[in-house]
Amino acid sequence: MKAEILCVGTEILLGDILNTNTQFLSRELANMGFSVYHQAVVGDNVDRLKDEFKLAIERADIVITTGGLGPTDDDLTKETAAEYFNKKLVFDEESYDFIVKYFEKLGVPLSNNNKKQAYFPESCTILKNDHGTAPGCVIDEKGKCVIMLPGPPREVVPMFKNYVVPYLKKYQEGVLVSKVLRVSGIGEGSAAEKIKDIMDKQINPTIAPYAKENEVTFRITAKADSEEEALKLIEPMEREVRDRLGDNVYGVGDTSLEEVLGKLLIDKKLTIATAESCTGGLLAGRLVNYPGISEVFMQGAVTYSNEAKMQRLGVKKETLDKFGAVSSETAAEMAEGIAKTSNTNIGISTTGIAGPGGGTEEKPVGLVYVGLYVNGVVKTRKLNIPGDRQKVRNRVVNKALDWIRREIMIL
Ligand code: ATP
Ligand code: MG
Repeated sequence: MKAEILCVGTEILLGDILNTNTQFLSRELANMGFSVYHQAVVGDNVDRLKDEFKLAIERADIVITTGGLGPTDDDLTKETAAEYFNKKLVFDEESYDFIVKYFEKLGVPLSNNNKKQAYFPESCTILKNDHGTAPGCVIDEKGKCVIMLPGPPREVVPMFKNYVVPYLKKYQEGVLVSKVLRVSGIGEGSAAEKIKDIMDKQINPTIAPYAKENEVTFRITAKADSEEEALKLIEPMEREVRDRLGDNVYGVGDTSLEEVLGKLLIDKKLTIATAESCTGGLLAGRLVNYPGISEVFMQGAVTYSNEAKMQRLGVKKETLDKFGAVSSETAAEMAEGIAKTSNTNIGISTTGIAGPGGGTEEKPVGLVYVGLYVNGVVKTRKLNIPGDRQKVRNRVVNKALDWIRREIMIL
């Protein structure tokens, strides 16, 4: 079944507000298995609204409108729909009582205009508004279903969930179920390349990549009669994708790198401490995002100056003099130093040039060393990260978290 969304409101066209109703409705309709091929926005203008409405209703089985149900003269959605279906607008006593009571509760006088909100196209289904004055309504005739909702998102969302979803059940042809694979340590391009043939021949399930700030996700979506069947369709594709991407897939669904790592650390009873220079506590902060982390995270030190690196972590003066603070040698001593002084299994360190200033030809902005000490063995990594200061810091933290995950997975 095809559904279309038509939002009414000049403010949206002017860019004064973001059209969140469309985003919400599109997502909900997709989850319910309806195909949305068009979304439209039209201002509070009778002729253009009529044109747009006609276009939508002729193309789709279901049209959902938002906005234009208010009390003023430029609120014309119901009028337009009624005219299209050759219907009169009739007064609904029950809705009017509700509006009167709503205003009483607010302690605001009712304006004469508000009576307009109690007029509906004849023989339509009225949708109660539990969060505002304008009720919605449905005209369902001649194989076409028009659902008119108010404009404010705080009214649209509950009205849709409580009254529209149950109403649309009879038109649902199946369910859409999605599973999101979270990938880290590999770019969108290379990840997509590894599964190119799968993506090329996708039908049901479909697979789509999304690149976010510091990770890539692949959403596998199947359409079926039941959730169980959809999951069965997803399973072989998920297995194949996991085979191809290997360790790069760090989790499924609503999770994060720090959560996955936190669980892994707890599971393997490995304690950890952090020594940060250029990331300035961001790494410790990310670990602490995971609520269970206190079991394994012992301490974090922000050692920005050379003195702090020497005093707190025991980095040798000769190392700093000879190789500099931003070096593999310093990163190694920092990681080992924090682990030993905190008495943990793991020590992780960061030292680098986050920019915008401070770079040299030899050590440019974005050069960062990460040190990782795990049970007596210390390794370092050199990173060259493009972007501004915050991007560099965030990317370093992500790479560090992901590196720890990979190292301890095989322990
Ligand atoms: P009202 O009774 O408030 O006039 P209405 O049904 O006539 O309700 P509109 O006047 O079109 O609705 O919109 C009311 C408010 O709702 C807008 O000022 C805007 O803040 C918000 N709104 C409307 N449409 C959208 C949309 N598509 N996305 C996000 N917000 C919206
Ligand atoms: Mg209005």
